[in-house]
Amino acid sequence: VIDIQHLKKNFGQHEVLKDIDFSVNKGEVVCIIGSSGSGKSTLLRCINLLEKPTAGEIIYNGENILDSKHDIFAYRSKLGMVFQQFNLFNNMDVLHNCTVGPAKILKQPEEAAKKIAMGYLEQVGMENFINAKPEQLSGGQKQRVAIARALSMKPDALLFDEPTSALDPEMVGEVLKVMKDLANSGLTMIVVTHEMEFAKEVSDRVIFMDQGVILEQGSPDDIFNHPKEVRTKQFLERYL
Ligand code: ATP
Ligand code: MG
Repeated sequence: VIDIQHLKKNFGQHEVLKDIDFSVNKGEVVCIIGSSGSGKSTLLRCINLLEKPTAGEIIYNGENILDSKHDIFAYRSKLGMVFQQFNLFNNMDVLHNCTVGPAKILKQPEEAAKKIAMGYLEQVGMENFINAKPEQLSGGQKQRVAIARALSMKPDALLFDEPTSALDPEMVGEVLKVMKDLANSGLTMIVVTHEMEFAKEVSDRVIFMDQGVILEQGSPDDIFNHPKEVRTKQFLERYL
């Protein structure tokens, strides 16, 4: 789906991403792990152009979308994003959160947008809360709505940035369950996470980032049971 080559990102003098090559195939679930500050969020934000890469190429459907002639809004609408802090529209109810993008950006007729959104809200178990405002929901419920909202745009891939890190422990499971079901349904997913059990169980591929580079990547078995790099081992030891 996406193929990134020689991606670099600087903030001033600070080189946060150094020559990253990264790709994700259709239907693949890739988990990105690594210490705080290693550049995981910046990589996700560069992938969907919330940050402008300093150098490199992002090839999507065979074209480099960093070429100035490309419509980055169209590209971005094909990549759903789920954030740690939910980022729901607090002034809109649950259903409206899920229909506003399809109606405004995809120009879907209201009824069609509602129907599609209802399907996804059912899938995440939030169909009984369509008239609730985000402030009336628990963190886990908000995150499930955020996932339904992202799905309602019919994205080619979903990008998750630590979707469970802001949740109370008892709500982590319900969100991971939804994400597991999505992974099993064949959705293309890129997930930055500290949930090692989830990464082990659900990933097709795990990427370990360290100091702005992809230090190591492989199957969950490669990374968790047979890490090659000392830094990977040290990182994982902190989670055992
Ligand atoms: P965490 O696990 O804490 O979320 P991360 O791996 O997601 O960490 P990033 O948020 O990508 O790390 O940050 C990588 C580095 O880039 C950090 O040193 C951070 O301070 C720096 N950085 C990130 N965003 C900006 C910004 N907008 N301006 C300047 N520096 C930034
Ligand atoms: Mg981060």
